[in-house]
Amino acid sequence: MISYRLGDEHEELRLTVADFARDIVAPVIGGYYERGEFPYDIVARMGKLGLFGLPFPEEYGGMGGDFFTLCLALHELARVDSSVAITLEAGVALGAMPIYRFGDEEQRGRWLPDLCRGERLAAFGLTEPGGGSDIPGGMRTVARLDDGEWVIDGSKAFITNAGTAITSLVTALAITGSPGSRREISAIIVPSGTPGLTVGPKYSKVGWCASDTRELAFTSCRVPAANLLGERGRGYAQFLQTLDEGRVALAALSAGLAEGCVDECLRYVGERAAFGRRLGYYQFKIANMDARANGARLAWYDAAARMHAGEPFKKQAAIAKLTASNAAMDNARDATQIFGGYGFMNDYPVGRFYRDAKVLEIGEGTSEVQRMIIARQLGLGQAGPGDEADATLV
Ligand SMILES: Cc1cc2nc3c(=O)[nH]c(=O)nc-3n(C[C@H](O)[C@H](O)[C@H](O)COP(=O)(O)OP(=O)(O)OC[C@H]3O[C@@H](n4cnc5c(N)ncnc54)[C@H](O)[C@@H]3O)c2cc1C
Repeated sequence: MISYRLGDEHEELRLTVADFARDIVAPVIGGYYERGEFPYDIVARMGKLGLFGLPFPEEYGGMGGDFFTLCLALHELARVDSSVAITLEAGVALGAMPIYRFGDEEQRGRWLPDLCRGERLAAFGLTEPGGGSDIPGGMRTVARLDDGEWVIDGSKAFITNAGTAITSLVTALAITGSPGSRREISAIIVPSGTPGLTVGPKYSKVGWCASDTRELAFTSCRVPAANLLGERGRGYAQFLQTLDEGRVALAALSAGLAEGCVDECLRYVGERAAFGRRLGYYQFKIANMDARANGARLAWYDAAARMHAGEPFKKQAAIAKLTASNAAMDNARDATQIFGGYGFMNDYPVGRFYRDAKVLEIGEGTSEVQRMIIARQLGLGQAGPGDEADATLV
C-alpha cells in the first residue's frame, strides 16, 4: 500500500515554511525582484529557521532531516517566490550536498556548519560558456597539480549563488588529466576570494531576478591539493549524482510554482466581480491547472520516495523534472491569461511566476536532456548528456 500522506513531522515543517513564505517573503519579495537585489535579510531568516541545514546531520550543524524535507520546503517557498527557493536549492542540493556526499571529514567540518546555518552559501560550477548540455565533451576548464597546489584555468557560466557577499565557495569541475592522456575530470573546492578567481557582474535575467547568477573566470587560480573533492577522476560521476538529486529538488520547486499559480487564481477570481459572469469558463482552466500541479507534486514525491528507499531513481527524477517544469510553465501562462492586463503588471505575483517558470525547463538539464535520459533508461538511444555512460569515459 503506497501512501503519499505526509507524516506529522513533515506536515509540521511544511506548514512552518508555508507561514514563513506568506508572512515574511510575500510582502517584500516583489520589491527585491524589481530592483534585482539579493534578499540577504530573508536568506538570513531562512538560515535561522534551519532551512539550509535540513538534509544534513546535526554533527555538521544540520537539522538531521532528509532530502524529502528539503524538497517540501522548496515546494512551499516556490508557491510564493522562486528566487528565494532557487537560492536554497542551489545552496543546499547543488552547493553543500557534494561536500557532504564526497568530502572528507576535514572538508565537511570546515565548510558545512556555516552553510547549514545559511550564514554562507555554496555554488556548483558545472556549466561553461561553450555549452551546458555538452559537458563533459565541451569542457574547457583545466586544473594541473603544481608544487602541492591545483592551478585552475577556464571559466564557468550561469552559476547560482556565485557572487553574493556570503558566498564561501564554488565546487568547480575541471579536466585534471594531462593533455593527450585519457580524459579525467575532477571536482575542486575553490574558496571565495582566492587569487585568480574572478567573479563576473550579475547577469541581467528574465526571471529569478532576486537570485544571484554570475560567470566565473579562473586564471592561474591556485588552491591546495587537499581541495580536491572526493576521488580524482570521479568529478563528473559525482556531479551527475548531484544533478539526479537536484532534479528532484527542482521538480519540487516547479510543482510549488505550479500550485502557487492556482493559489493566486483562486484568490483573484474571488476578488473580482467580473468573474461572477465568467466563472463557468475559467473554472475549467483553473481545474486543469490544479490537475497539472497535483501531477507535478506526485511526480516529485515518487522520485523522492524511490531515492529514499535506495532504489534507482534516475528515470523518475528526469520524469519529475520534465513534467513539473512543464506544469509550471503551462500554469504560469494560464494564470497570467486569467488575470488579463493585471497579469502583466508587477502588482500581482503571476507575472513574476510567468518570468520565473521558463528557466525551469532549462536549468539542471534542459527538457530535451530529460527526454534523452528517460529514453535511454527505456533502452532507447545512445549515451549522451547526463548519462553515466558518459561518466565512464572520464
Ligand atoms: C538562471 C540560471 C541559473 C543556473 N545555475 C547554474 C548553476 O548554479 N550551476 C551550473 O553549473 N549551471 C547553472 N545553470 C546552467 C544550466 O544548467 C544550463 O543553462 C543548462 O544546462 C543548459 O545549458 P546551456 O545553457 O549551455 O544550453 P545548451 O546546452 O547550449 O543547449 C541549448 C539548446 O540546445 C538543446 N540541446 C543541447 N544538446 C542537445 C542534443 N544533444 N539534442 C537535442 N537538443 C540539444 C538544449 O536542450 C537547449 O534547448 C544555470 C542557468 C540559468 C539560466
